[in-house]
Amino acid sequence: MNVEILEQDDNHIKFIVRETNPVFMNTLRRTMMSECTCLAIEDVIIVENSSAIFDEVIVHRLGLIPLKTDLNSYVLPSECECEGTGCPSCSVTLTLEKTGDEDLVTVHSGDLKSTDPEVVPATDKIPIAKLAQGQSIVLEASARLGLGKNHAKWQSCVVGYKYLPIIEVDLEKCTECGDCVEECPRKIFKLGKNKLIITDPINCSLCLLCVEKCDFDAIKVRGDNSSIIITVETKGGLLPETIVETSALVIKDKFTTFIEEIKSIETEEEIAEP
Ligand SMILES: [Zn+2]
Repeated sequence: MNVEILEQDDNHIKFIVRETNPVFMNTLRRTMMSECTCLAIEDVIIVENSSAIFDEVIVHRLGLIPLKTDLNSYVLPSECECEGTGCPSCSVTLTLEKTGDEDLVTVHSGDLKSTDPEVVPATDKIPIAKLAQGQSIVLEASARLGLGKNHAKWQSCVVGYKYLPIIEVDLEKCTECGDCVEECPRKIFKLGKNKLIITDPINCSLCLLCVEKCDFDAIKVRGDNSSIIITVETKGGLLPETIVETSALVIKDKFTTFIEEIKSIETEEEIAEP
């Protein structure tokens, strides 16, 4: 197996994995979306809400605000010594207090004050409610780690993958008519000097519009299912490389447990034999 990073920033990563297969890569994709933990607001105590928005709607909006997560500082409530009742090891408290004045005031995610300076909203600009003069919101929220498979608010990213596009042009059949250049939505082709040029094959979406458009059967496009391009887009709580690494470790742990279970069955069988 060979991994090459194609693009990377704080919120997304795109990499190609060679000498692999779709089964393994889909396992990684599903694990990243459903088993990589991140923090989200779970419980809210509304002290005051005189805004025009119902408590439930505000609480729902709070739950979906992405929070910066340090996976080394917190554990899942189900794995915590407090047995999930809530303690500094498994929960963070955030408070919000805002009152409207003469102008309409917007309450943003940045108005949440956290007890842990490392756990803050991924962006300050998410609107929660608007307050007219005299209206106010006062609340206390508790954020916990959770799994994407239990609620979308704990899904730390979205992941897509595609096979590595292999584009072949038969230059003897190609008449350089330019139809494929026009047709391709990703602009993969370009007309050079007496030759059709493939500019960026990795960007091909395998839509096959160029193949259908070519009257001379000069283009062949296929996906190589042993080389897979994965794109991970985070919601801002975790770095994309952290999500990939954490998810790979989750898969490793699951298989380690599986091997241990299989071994224990074998040992039991050996003991049972006379
Ligand atoms: Zn706890």
